[in-house]
Amino acid sequence: MTDLEDLYREIILDHYRSPRNSGELETPPAHRAEGFNPLCGDEIVVYLLVADDGTIADIKIGGQGCSISQSSASMMSAAVKGKTVAQVRDLMKSFKGLMSIAADGAELAEPSPSEIRELGDLAALRGVVKFPTRIKCATLSWNTLDQALAELDA
Ligand code: ZN
Repeated sequence: MTDLEDLYREIILDHYRSPRNSGELETPPAHRAEGFNPLCGDEIVVYLLVADDGTIADIKIGGQGCSISQSSASMMSAAVKGKTVAQVRDLMKSFKGLMSIAADGAELAEPSPSEIRELGDLAALRGVVKFPTRIKCATLSWNTLDQALAELDA
């Protein structure tokens, strides 16, 4: 195992043991979305409060599931809080890119330094792509956030 893998494992465990932004928000004004990953039994509830200026004023996470799904949700909440909805959509795109597998099953390159800077702790989930069944665990909170964002436009 490389030092980088050790570091990533520590980051994932830290978010699992001490989840950021766990709890609920009053709806309305907050939006609520629920996600479920039947492959693993993971559940994520996202409460999203967007300010008039389009920034994420607050976000809370509920639900239960495996360490990957819960730590990913914690990282996601910390990463999007205070950002604008447009910035969040960009970050979502970067994260889903990180989580995609090469179609030919080729070994993935280590994330580039700029990728790591942009994604912060989220880059720790890169190793998950080696286990295709766990990718849905890692992306569940983002898909649930996507649903909550879609409600904003409704
Ligand atoms: Zn899971």
